[in-house]
Amino acid sequence: MRPIKGNPPPEWATALIERVCAGEGRREPRQVQWWHSKDAYSSGRYWDGEKRLHITAGTMELDQEMVLLHELGHHLARPTWHHNKRYWELTFKLYDRYGSYGLMAWAVVREGEMHAKANTEAEAYRYP
Ligand SMILES: [Zn+2]
Repeated sequence: MRPIKGNPPPEWATALIERVCAGEGRREPRQVQWWHSKDAYSSGRYWDGEKRLHITAGTMELDQEMVLLHELGHHLARPTWHHNKRYWELTFKLYDRYGSYGLMAWAVVREGEMHAKANTEAEAYRYP
């Protein structure tokens, strides 16, 4: 993993990425960029071609962790999966296996909110 100079992920995030990828027997993303936002919630994006992961970290720590695991889910998933059933099975397994105490409960609420919003707006679920 090659963090971009000036935007390295915090130590806990680097450790979590290493733990997840080692635990799942997969390579780490090639590059991880970590930005900060004053919002409570975080957002993230993953580019499969470049194996690049980008997190804009909000102030709520549990949400940072969830969004990082969400994007790692995209890293581990097949690119064609997007937010399909197999993707969610994989990603909720990551929440369960690697998340801090309370992460799974938070993920159910937060991912549920996103699903509800996407359904209401009748558009493809995009995160966020
Ligand atoms: Zn996603």
